[in-house]
Amino acid sequence: MPEFQTSPGMRDILPPDSARWRRFQAVFASVVEAAGYGEIMPPLMEDLGVFMRIGDATDVVTKEMYDFVDKGERRVALRPEQTASVCRAFTQHRPLTPWKVYYSGPNFRYEKPQRGRYRQFDQVGIEVLGADDPYLDVEVIALGWEFYRRLGLRRVDLLLNSLGEPEDRAAYVEALQTYFDDNSGALTAQSRVTLAKNPLRVLDSKRSPDAAVIAAAPRIGAFYSPQAAAHFEQVQNGLTDLSIPFTIDTTLVRGLDYYRRTTFEFQGGTLESAQNALGGGGRYDGLVESLGGPPTHGIGFALGLDRTLLACDDEGVFAAPDTSVDIFVVDTTGGREALRITAELRDCGFATDRAFENRSMKAQMKAADRSGALLAVIIGSNEVEAGTVVVRPLRQPIGEAARQYDIPRDTLVSEVTQALVKAVREASA
Ligand code: AMP
Repeated sequence: MPEFQTSPGMRDILPPDSARWRRFQAVFASVVEAAGYGEIMPPLMEDLGVFMRIGDATDVVTKEMYDFVDKGERRVALRPEQTASVCRAFTQHRPLTPWKVYYSGPNFRYEKPQRGRYRQFDQVGIEVLGADDPYLDVEVIALGWEFYRRLGLRRVDLLLNSLGEPEDRAAYVEALQTYFDDNSGALTAQSRVTLAKNPLRVLDSKRSPDAAVIAAAPRIGAFYSPQAAAHFEQVQNGLTDLSIPFTIDTTLVRGLDYYRRTTFEFQGGTLESAQNALGGGGRYDGLVESLGGPPTHGIGFALGLDRTLLACDDEGVFAAPDTSVDIFVVDTTGGREALRITAELRDCGFATDRAFENRSMKAQMKAADRSGALLAVIIGSNEVEAGTVVVRPLRQPIGEAARQYDIPRDTLVSEVTQALVKAVREASA
């Protein structure tokens, strides 16, 4: 056992998994950039106060924050999510609205590590600040939906709810408080602690002893003002217009105290219920103000990479992409020829690798096979003398004899181009 290993909940993402991660981020970027979203890259670390605004009834703030005092006596934290950072950035830079941004990258939460739950984990997400329109809610939800579709996932369920206007929500919270107070004896100890802070969050409990009390709790629908009801209806109609199926789930409340109106969650149909949330989001007000900005409407979502990839594995979609090189150069004359040929091929845009340490022909050919390249370009002393190189297709149809051939050294690029076209055709035939 080596002296040092990754700390609990932290991982090295190695190839080929890392290529899958990168492609996940690239697919997400292409979906949202095509809808006018620009990338924001907030810092990994912020003033602790930025994240305290997420709400002190959330586990993220009370238990999971990686906070510490830095050498300048500042109380800072590694970001547990990115919505608060986006709102802080909006307040700091005052961009034109609507401000449509997306992000992608790691967050940190001190959680108990388990399958699909880590202390450093990646999310992708979008936020729109400064617009209040039910069709924006539809756009945001539709982009999440489209992303899953682009990954190839089929078994994703969209759950939808509205928390109403702030006054509706306040009246509802009061009714819930009374109801849960009356029934607190039947709640788990954890839920009683949550109840003291925020009765809405009790609805979030996935602990089975709480289920019966939650099932009989008052429902938000009875508290909607006419505007909230109209907004919610327009969101539903918009999703129907886009043929996006959804289920209304009145227990779906988001952790943030600032959430209002639309909330939603994407669930993976193949995952266990305790952690089937692939991602979620909603509309929020007041977060920008709490960070010192003007009153600003916001909506967004965050999607977890790990669970989404678990869902992809379950559905057999979105495998790690093939990142093999096109060409592997084998040089038995000491390595300088390989240096030149590799540089020439890379200059022309071919992904090219080579062997080092002047190994035997056999060892270099083995490395060529292992590299996954389609072609080997081989040079030995005979070839140097004759001004040629050997081209050898590496992925020949099974049973076919090796069909390597000599080409003049100065026709390398055009010959290799033709050979690659042929090899790709054969590989995909
Ligand atoms: P949240 O920001 O808590 O709403 O989480 C949004 C999504 O991020 C979840 O649905 C998960 O897919 C993912 N997520 C949250 N926490 C973790 C974690 N500790 N490890 C891996 N993924 C996470």
